[in-house]
Amino acid sequence: MKRKQVRRILIVIAVFMIAILSLNKIETFIKEATIPHYKELTQIGYDDEQILIIQEHGDEEIETILISEYQPDIIKRLTLPHYADLREIGYSEQDLKTILKAEEAAILGLKKLPLLNTWKTYLARPGYRNILLSGYGEEAGQKIDGLSETLVQSILEFPHRGDYDELVLSEQTILTDLASYLSYWQKHPTAVLRDVQERVNTETDRAYYTGIIPADPSKGNLILVNKYVRLDKNFIPSTLTTIEVCGKATVTSDTAAALTRMCQAMISAGLHPKVTSSYRSYSTQATLYNRYVANNGKASADTFSARPGHSEHQTGLAIDILTNSSSLSTFKNTAEYRWMVEHAVEYGFIQRYTDQKQSITGYVSEPWHWRYVGESTAIDYQTKKLTFDEYYRLYIQ
Ligand SMILES: [Zn+2]
Repeated sequence: MKRKQVRRILIVIAVFMIAILSLNKIETFIKEATIPHYKELTQIGYDDEQILIIQEHGDEEIETILISEYQPDIIKRLTLPHYADLREIGYSEQDLKTILKAEEAAILGLKKLPLLNTWKTYLARPGYRNILLSGYGEEAGQKIDGLSETLVQSILEFPHRGDYDELVLSEQTILTDLASYLSYWQKHPTAVLRDVQERVNTETDRAYYTGIIPADPSKGNLILVNKYVRLDKNFIPSTLTTIEVCGKATVTSDTAAALTRMCQAMISAGLHPKVTSSYRSYSTQATLYNRYVANNGKASADTFSARPGHSEHQTGLAIDILTNSSSLSTFKNTAEYRWMVEHAVEYGFIQRYTDQKQSITGYVSEPWHWRYVGESTAIDYQTKKLTFDEYYRLYIQ
């Protein structure tokens, strides 16, 4: 080939290439001139296909896109219903592949909630969905979702409040009683959570001696007897024994063993405890209570004496303890009482009717009345700082 020919071919190629380059330039120039924000959008990183879709949206949306970073899923954001909103909440593209296939109502609900870890359960269980949409968080929602349908329904009738989640999640809440807590709380909106729990757990959200149920002797040393729980007229503890260590006491065999050890310890410490009352039969209690009613009136008698069947003394697990030189009113100032407050739990005895819990037990403070429950329960009971009425419902029943 001649040199001249080569040159000609090179020139043709060069012209051709320049033409192509200019065409591209011209094309870009035309796009920039005719498509609004074309240049800015390409600078952000969008390609022509994306820009075309972006153009189909309103100015406001485009403004937002212009001041945001490059969004690789811009087409989905702009074209798939709910996609952008759910991405905004925090769902991943991967999650949305499943979520966007759900029914419209479920998706609309999901958009009202914060990011859920349990969105799969939310989609699968309409019941759970209702609980979350009523205002409960996921953790509380899952607990409620585990309850019966009727119970869930009655719970959801109470408009959700922020502190309801704490109620549901508390260790001291009996889940099957949730509707009762909510009902009490609705009537006493300024009550704090602990009060609400205490009232419902001890059943003192209703009047004493109402809705009475039979006591459960199968609980042995842990039996509960109070103003809502009654012993049968014919109940007599099967292991009643009479001992004489610090006064005469008729109690169950376990109580007798523990009382013996405790009295010996107290005597060794130079103290002089004296048991003044122990087992009382139903009929003895009836005579006692009736005498108090005759002397003091029923309302007053009820604050310090149990109605027959409602006395712990009928269980054979309770003792009244004083000293030779103290009375009911002075016992709390004795060294014997101070010793018992410190050590009685080590022998399995708890104080049953304290000053602070009068509104729960329904009895005035009785420093002399001690109840045997066994060592491990007594020690655990002391750490929990509840009444035995509440402790029983939470941990024994
Ligand atoms: Zn007593």
